[in-house]
Amino acid sequence: MVTIDDICATVARRNANADLGLLRRCHAFAAESHRGQLRRSGEPYLVHPMGVAKIIADLNLDVPSICAGILHDCVEDTSATCEDIRARFGAEIQKIVDGVTKLGQIPWTTREERQAENFRKMLLAMAHDIRVILVKLADRVHNMRTLQFVSRDKQERVARETREIYAPIANRLGIQWMKVELEDLAFQYLEPQAWADLRNQMEGTEAERSNYIDDVCAKLGQVLAENDIAGEVSGRAKGFWSIHQKMQRTGRDLEHVYDIIAFRIITANVRDCYAALGAIHSNWMPVPGRFKDYIALPKPNLYQSLHTTVIGPGSERMEVQIRTRDMHRTAEEGIAAHWQYKEQAPLGGNERKAFAWLHQLMEWQRDLADPAEFIQTVKIDLFEEEVFVFTPKGDVKALPQGATPIDFAYAVHSKIGDHCSGARVNGMIVPLRYRLRNGDIVDIITSPTQKPSKDWLKFIITSRAQTKIRHHLRREQRERSRRLGRDLVSKALRNQHRSLAAAEKNKLLDKAAEALNLGTAEEIFVHVGYGKLSPEAAALAIYPQPPEASADNLPAVGAEAHALPRREPKRSVGGVRVQGEADIVVRFAKCCSPVPGDAIVAFVSRGRGVIVHTRACPKTFNLDPARSVEVSWDEDSRLLRPVAVQVVSEDKPGILAAISKCFLEHSVNIAQAKCKATEDSRGLNTFQVAVGHVDQLKKVLRAIQGLDGVISATRL
Ligand code: MN
Repeated sequence: MVTIDDICATVARRNANADLGLLRRCHAFAAESHRGQLRRSGEPYLVHPMGVAKIIADLNLDVPSICAGILHDCVEDTSATCEDIRARFGAEIQKIVDGVTKLGQIPWTTREERQAENFRKMLLAMAHDIRVILVKLADRVHNMRTLQFVSRDKQERVARETREIYAPIANRLGIQWMKVELEDLAFQYLEPQAWADLRNQMEGTEAERSNYIDDVCAKLGQVLAENDIAGEVSGRAKGFWSIHQKMQRTGRDLEHVYDIIAFRIITANVRDCYAALGAIHSNWMPVPGRFKDYIALPKPNLYQSLHTTVIGPGSERMEVQIRTRDMHRTAEEGIAAHWQYKEQAPLGGNERKAFAWLHQLMEWQRDLADPAEFIQTVKIDLFEEEVFVFTPKGDVKALPQGATPIDFAYAVHSKIGDHCSGARVNGMIVPLRYRLRNGDIVDIITSPTQKPSKDWLKFIITSRAQTKIRHHLRREQRERSRRLGRDLVSKALRNQHRSLAAAEKNKLLDKAAEALNLGTAEEIFVHVGYGKLSPEAAALAIYPQPPEASADNLPAVGAEAHALPRREPKRSVGGVRVQGEADIVVRFAKCCSPVPGDAIVAFVSRGRGVIVHTRACPKTFNLDPARSVEVSWDEDSRLLRPVAVQVVSEDKPGILAAISKCFLEHSVNIAQAKCKATEDSRGLNTFQVAVGHVDQLKKVLRAIQGLDGVISATRL
């Protein structure tokens, strides 16, 4: 068991002024509280909190964090209360213990809305005091190390949670060793067979690998020496989980995966990092696209290093990381490296940068009301490949790979997104569809007159920007429809020599809205504008009594004949009923030219009324479903519709006459015919004909198809 002496020694080595007495008092309290409790392994329970405290001490966290580690299970598992802890050890330690206890009580279910809520809680706890999550992570590491003692069920649940939540968080906080250990332990319990296979293979190739590593390290050392660069060289295999994923990805077995080893050079200063890189590149061929300069452009978790892959000895890919000793410490300890001996000190600039992603998440969750959307955003942020870009002030924004300046603008603020009229990247104007790259400095140009455009939806990728743009477009469309509807209703009333203004003054609109079941007067206009209600029907609802007949209110010249509402059913104006109404004029789309009997859909277009498409028309996929209205063919209508027919025939005399005769026999009028001979001596004939029903068209096409010398007859 880790003893309190071990912990005090670890702390004293780093910080001579640390309050070791406080640590010992916490230990005594925990030992007393957990007295008699045993772990599943049969050991005294105290083994666990002391193990956790040691992990925290090794992270060089401050004394209150270590105390919280020792006490973290007291409130939950013993009779000790929060008040006891506050009274004995102070509010700071009590708050951390409380935070850890609460995190432990969050149930991780698969139900999405619950998960979203849990993410929120965890983020809140983290944003409040990062030490809470660090203690929780240490707790998780120790539990994972001793997971063999619990039931298979619990093993799986805890391992899954570790893979999905805790390992990514350790990664985000930059604690590399912890991320790798958590991932590997989760792998061991979630895929025991694959893990055991890999372990056997790794053991089987151990000697060979160790020779290879020694060999390469010697060669790297030699190259450094030749160039007068002081540096420590080491090499070791990556984590099991990362090797397993690499094997799955490449479909190769272990013997052929050489880049499972990471070689590392640690130098005294930054200049030597670049010098070492130069020396390596001049000895071995670098693999294009694999060089990354995280020294000039640190990751948001503060990680710094040069990465390169070269074709090394034996023509195998060889991955090398080069960094200074300080950078190495940050790489291993991450955010924890910035908490050491800074008790009560405010966060410096670097720490704030490391928190930037956390604060961004907090900001986003405020305006993402939909839990599914929130969790998607969080998942993107925790797991996906990202690009890290900067505001002109130097704040980091993390965006998913492929994000554009508009995604960036919406990530900064929705107002900036809404008014984004252009973007400068690294000082140069770029198109709005430009894909941001790591390290870009993005300056959004805004204009008060700029509005979100439908075109943006084609290239933006974040759900946040998508939601905001759609929302804006819907609002705008509604406003346009309202204005259009108002105009139409006003016209319909004028045709009856009545005035909308008078109706409004007499509050007739509210009554009409009630009668139509539409709630508010405004809704009447919106419905008319969308074409869901005819202006005449609206007029009738406003003035249920027809105007008295007198010389003065005869229909005005030019008024449409169908302006007066009638009760009896009548033949539709355009051969199509719109939501059961016969008297709405429709247009037929030219792209698909519907024929009576075709399955049809209709959309209300701005200023052009209702446009009817065939259901199969590809254009309809781009139209706003909110603008669609229900339409049906009017059975009583004797509407004739133009349709183009193409007939391919052998190029022989008399064939055209035979085709024309066939049309006539089926009572189909030909409006236009174009005939030409193709190079392979076929006749290509295009006819514009008028048909009353799609069945009639099918019949005539079948008949033409049957003619001697006709190869095909199709509707265009
Ligand atoms: Mn615990």
